[in-house]
Amino acid sequence: MLEKKIVLLGATGSIGENTLKVARKHPERVRIAAIAAHSRYKQLAAIAHEFAVPDVALFDRRSAEAARSSGLFPANTRIHEGPEGLLTLATLDAANVVVMAIVGTLGLRPALAALGAGKTLALASKEILVLAGKFVMAESARCDAPVLPLDSEHNAIFQCLHGEPRRHVERLILTASGGPFRDFPIEKMGTITPEQALCHPNWNMGPKVTIDSSTMANKGLELIEARWLFDIPQERIDIVVHPQSIIHSMVRFIDGSVLAQLAPPSMTFPIQHCLFYPDRAEGVSPSLDFSQTLRLDLQPPDLKKFSCLRLARETSAAAGIAPAVFNAANEIAVDAFLHNKITFNNIPSVIEFTLAAVSPREPIDIEDLLAADAEARARAEEFVAHHCP
Ligand code: MG
Repeated sequence: MLEKKIVLLGATGSIGENTLKVARKHPERVRIAAIAAHSRYKQLAAIAHEFAVPDVALFDRRSAEAARSSGLFPANTRIHEGPEGLLTLATLDAANVVVMAIVGTLGLRPALAALGAGKTLALASKEILVLAGKFVMAESARCDAPVLPLDSEHNAIFQCLHGEPRRHVERLILTASGGPFRDFPIEKMGTITPEQALCHPNWNMGPKVTIDSSTMANKGLELIEARWLFDIPQERIDIVVHPQSIIHSMVRFIDGSVLAQLAPPSMTFPIQHCLFYPDRAEGVSPSLDFSQTLRLDLQPPDLKKFSCLRLARETSAAAGIAPAVFNAANEIAVDAFLHNKITFNNIPSVIEFTLAAVSPREPIDIEDLLAADAEARARAEEFVAHHCP
């Protein structure tokens, strides 16, 4: 078994913490070669000490400066900074796997750089494929550098597809917890506060993805992500609400058989699968206990109540720059909601307005996509400022 030398981009978030749990459990198989965070340098310093990490990066330059003068880091640790710091880490000679867990689209260039350098990309940041799936998967194929899905649903599908030729696959079935408002009355959705939306029943995640789960925009983003990861048209990807978050997703084959992957809702399972793939090793957290009664409910999603999901499907069908516009508008809307600038019901309104305001087109390259992303952000900001209560 080869030792995995890992660059962990987004080390202080929940994916980062869970990746470190796997590294702690298997020190002989996982080495942390580099870590990066946006600005939390004290946490980064603690990780640098524990895992003797030679290279660290802080995206925020002032935090990098503070880190250097803090004296908190091991003496021989190099502290990189800014977007170029992330690129340095993503292409480090000393590493063979890049775990991409930076929230939003900041990770796009480092992800492309990692693939360009022939690294395996263990991808948690779904926005990267939503924004630029076509270009990222093309770079993966060009450089013979695999993209391994670290998101729990996509990892489940990846496990179910193992050893199956693509012609056997009929449909992918993404499961969704339905979030905290699955059974909330539709007429009261406008009154939902950020505090209520930040309480997810099953998963402990960062604020952006927790709000996305509560609007089900998260499942919409995952639908688009799955389309690129598994090269399957969106009309052959179903979404099923499964409140217990035990079945992480399924694949239906042409003979009608359905395979599912099950595990307790902990990110250590998909992370460990990605890090050791195609090998396996003892897990970090306890698995399912079948000596207890286990209930698994499955039901179709309510597209009337969760407009973000409906919009994501329309977006995925439209393709071109539409998914990038959806993603950008959603990021602006979530941020505005978290800052009490808009209501919960305004989130899909911001997305719908922005999708209509930015003319659809086929992106020529990454620059063109980033221009569409910037335009969408500007239009969404405008809408938030002028049309929301
Ligand atoms: Mg997920």
